[in-house]
Amino acid sequence: MFASSLDTAIEFLKGVGPKRAELLQKELGIFTCENLLGHFPFRYIDRTRFYKINELDPDLPYVQILGRVTSKELVGEKHKRRIVARLTDDTGSIDLVWFQSLKWVDENVMKGKVYIVFGKPAVFNGTYSISHPELENYPRPATVTGNLTLQPVYHSTDKLKKSFLDSKGIQKLQAAILGQFLREIRETIPLYILEKYKMPVRSEALLNIHFPKNPSALKHAERRLKFEELFFIQLQMLHNKQQRELRFKGHLFGVVGDRLNSFYKDILPFELTDAQKRVIKEIRVDTQRGIQMNRLVQGDVGSGKTVVALMSMLLANDNGYQACMMAPTEILARQHYESLTALLKGRLVNVAILTGSTTKKQRTQLHEKLESGEIDILVGTHALIEDRVVFKNLGLVVIDEQHRFGVEQRARLWRKNIIPPHILVMTATPIPRTLAMTLYGDLDVSLIDELPAGRKPIETKHLYEGQRLRMFGFMKEEIAKGRQIYVVYPLIKESEKLDLLHLEAGIEQMSYQFPRPQYQISIVHGKMSNTDKQFEMQQFIDGKSQIMVATTVIEVGVNVPNASVMVIENAERFGLSQLHQLRGRVGRGAEQSFCILMSGNKLSKEGKLRLETMVRTNNGFEISEIDLQLRGPGDISGTQQSGVLELKLADLAKDQLILQEARNTVIEILGEDPRLELPKNSLLKTYLSKKSRGIAFDKIS
Ligand code: ADP
Ligand code: MG
Repeated sequence: MFASSLDTAIEFLKGVGPKRAELLQKELGIFTCENLLGHFPFRYIDRTRFYKINELDPDLPYVQILGRVTSKELVGEKHKRRIVARLTDDTGSIDLVWFQSLKWVDENVMKGKVYIVFGKPAVFNGTYSISHPELENYPRPATVTGNLTLQPVYHSTDKLKKSFLDSKGIQKLQAAILGQFLREIRETIPLYILEKYKMPVRSEALLNIHFPKNPSALKHAERRLKFEELFFIQLQMLHNKQQRELRFKGHLFGVVGDRLNSFYKDILPFELTDAQKRVIKEIRVDTQRGIQMNRLVQGDVGSGKTVVALMSMLLANDNGYQACMMAPTEILARQHYESLTALLKGRLVNVAILTGSTTKKQRTQLHEKLESGEIDILVGTHALIEDRVVFKNLGLVVIDEQHRFGVEQRARLWRKNIIPPHILVMTATPIPRTLAMTLYGDLDVSLIDELPAGRKPIETKHLYEGQRLRMFGFMKEEIAKGRQIYVVYPLIKESEKLDLLHLEAGIEQMSYQFPRPQYQISIVHGKMSNTDKQFEMQQFIDGKSQIMVATTVIEVGVNVPNASVMVIENAERFGLSQLHQLRGRVGRGAEQSFCILMSGNKLSKEGKLRLETMVRTNNGFEISEIDLQLRGPGDISGTQQSGVLELKLADLAKDQLILQEARNTVIEILGEDPRLELPKNSLLKTYLSKKSRGIAFDKIS
């Protein structure tokens, strides 16, 4: 029913054939005409703009010049044979050069004639030239593409170019498809939505994205196609969420009982921040609705997520359920265990820990206590989700550092009960709103956007290599005050060998500046055995060493409150969010903490902006927004395995408004018509049912 001629294999499009079809498949993943239509231009050249010859500059992209051919000659021998023509306007002249198709050029490029010349200027020995320019007669004849004011430029590859499928060649194919199949392009978005947002229908949008009638038509086309892209992601996510809520019941945490009450009244040593109170309230509401909670709590390092987790777990306990908390590493699990028992002062509930290094005997006992319900809260690593771990009545799972646990692992937890436990995901990596909506669109999101009162903000300084001695001096002062210090080196796969050399040189320099026995240095990096790492870290945690030199392995959450200085070497090589994460390792105790960003003297513009941002603000959300603007969503942590990278047109850094519109639209639609039964939403219903049967989206139009 949905088959259309756009499903035609690309091979059968006029001008393609089997050879080029194979190339298009291999190089660009294009199998059908519809696929090719989805290969959008990545930019446009303004054909209304004519450059003067004296304005040329080798940094310019493609330019258009109007000029007269004043000479033309064949020069060079054999493979160096070429035609050089001189093009002149009222400001100067340049050379046009051809190495191929000499016969055609000789017959068609006429001395004395005026042409519109199009190409990329280059400079050689002080003379400007354009090789293999495109020439058009002046004035332009009134053909379709000749009248384009904005010329599309398509991504192509060397192999494609050799088969004449450069940008121009691809443009011709697009013209062929649109000429032949324009009327068969089916709409995907219900008309009433298009009308509401004043968006063009799909065929018009596709026509104008490839061959814009004018800049305004292009803008509308882009908006519509971006909307479409984001709209269907949101539809999928929010529909999944709704289905999950319809399908699974959730445990009811109806009462606040003795444990939570007495923890709050008698044990908790501080006042909760407003943000913490708000998030706890959100969790309370979620867990009283009879549906399964799936909530993401985002909060900067030190914003107090652990207490929120603990109070939620006590709520579960008060209602007769067990709770567990998972961490990505053993060290972190142990730290969580310790902070929970410290917060509880050993009272109210039974907390246990289970990790890879739990002995068999301990494990057997633990399993029994879990099954009998004697253990209220279990903390641990991945070991928690093994099938042999059986709870009496698991009601809540807290997952720390979300990006280490995928959707698949979350799903495994659910299988542990008939009614799935509530899920609370905690992340200390603040991510921009647009990313959160796209990556975690099926989760509810809570923000702890406030630090506990009285916290001293970390002071951040940027020092250049030449100021290194000053840094050593400062380190010595802090150590004399009893503080501990992290020194972190970058270790990046692509430059691993060099990085390890730098690390070694750094360690040598440190050992020289901070000699034993007065100073002890712990060294931790990814190439060490786990046992050695654990030992070195423990030395630092126990205060037996004053300095910990490390590669980024410490990035994920070690908590040493007495460590108050973070030195980051080659700071310009780290991404913003990574710098922010690293900085978050200090500032956990009562003392004023410092972050020192060491960099080389030469900085790129971006590198400089990153370091300036770090010096200016401690706010993780602000930093994540800047990170998104600088790097795009692909590099922000957590996005790597997700589909966000596959967005063709929409840009999560720039298209926030469109995303919000798309999401709101979906919320409205599902609110009014949860099962998509209204005739006006039939397209959407079809989309989802095709999608759930694994049929690619572009087969649906
Ligand atoms: P994170 O969000 O990084 O996990 P933690 O939960 O570890 O932060 O909290 C950091 C520190 O702040 C802990 O020592 C914790 O006890 C303390 N803390 C948490 N909430 C408050 C608060 N409202 N007032 C004062 N201290 C708090
Ligand atoms: Mg934490």
